[in-house]
Formats: sequence, structure tokens, C-alpha cells
Amino acid sequence: MVDIIDVPKGKKIRGSQILPPSEDLGYYEKKTNSGISITPTTQYCPSCSSTHEYNYGKIRRKWNLFHGDLNFKLSYKEDNEGKLYAQCDNPQCNFDLRMDVNNEGLVTPEGSDTYSNEVYLENVKYANGAYLIKYEEFKELLIKKRKGEHLKICLKQRIGPSMNVLILDDEVFHNASQLNMENDKISIPKRYWKNH
Ligand SMILES: [Zn+2]
Repeated sequence: MVDIIDVPKGKKIRGSQILPPSEDLGYYEKKTNSGISITPTTQYCPSCSSTHEYNYGKIRRKWNLFHGDLNFKLSYKEDNEGKLYAQCDNPQCNFDLRMDVNNEGLVTPEGSDTYSNEVYLENVKYANGAYLIKYEEFKELLIKKRKGEHLKICLKQRIGPSMNVLILDDEVFHNASQLNMENDKISIPKRYWKNH
């Protein structure tokens, strides 16, 4: 005996139960060794989402994306000509999704292959004219520098759709005692960061 069940439009079926449709979260989840990774199925902001990482002197797409890497908060806005477009809701970004993102929002620094001892700082915050980096991280770099290691210390800075790489001037290590601390972070003024 076979039951024939009509699934009404907009409903789903599990066994013989008719259920409301699953909510579309805009991604699906997958268990990985390092946690639950997500695969986007809808548009996210290509500018402020963290889809790339710095690896061996190269910027490349992350193998796994996690919750928090992608910003799905977008809204429709109207331009001067009355045309609707999608814009990122992040007030620091406000990326217009009609624009092209240069290499997925990232620019690979030229000649990066030659720097085997390039250090790339993660989670650097910008506030009051300075970049805040973890004090522990700074201390480690300072020790390595004093041991004579030739390090190139970089950070990614997002300007609209493109990515700029800033390099820390060695001079900062001579003036380390004059830098301000904010909780567990050290504040390194903008003037110590040079454009690539
Ligand atoms: Zn954005």
C-alpha cells in the first residue's frame, strides 16, 4: 500500500508529515575539524566579509568560512537616479554591491613571494589615529627584531572595495616605551605604518 501525498506549494515533507518550509539562513553548515564551517548560498558583502587570509606571503581564499566571517546584512538603497541597489549595512563599510571588488576585495602585495619572513597581523583595530595590536604579539615581534630577525610586519587595511597593505616601520621598535597601552593592546600611531 502506497500513500500518495501532495505537498502543497511552499511546504516541505519529512516522512509523511507536511511541514512549514525550512527557514533560508543564506548558508548551510558543515562540521569540520576546526568547528562548524558555513557555505554561503546567498549574497554577502564582498568588501567587509573575511573570505581571504594571508598565507606564506600570499592572500588566498580561506579553505573554510565560519560564522562571523561573512556579513549578510545588506539592504536595498535607491541611488540619485531612483535605481535600487544593494548596499552593505555595516556603517564602516556601506559597500555598493554594484561595484567590482578588486580581486575579491584584495590586492596581493607585489613581490610578496620574496618575503619568507613576512608577518601578517590579524584582528587589528583602528581607533583614534592608531592601530591597536595585541601587546603579547608586539612583544614577541620586538624580541625577534632585537635578535636580528629581518621581519616585515604587515596589516591589511580595507579602503572601500580594495585592500591596502600597510607595513610597520622599524622605528616603532626604538620608540616602544612611548607607545600607549589600552587594556591588553598596544596602540601604534598611523605614522608608523607605511603604504606597501
Ligand atoms: Zn560590507
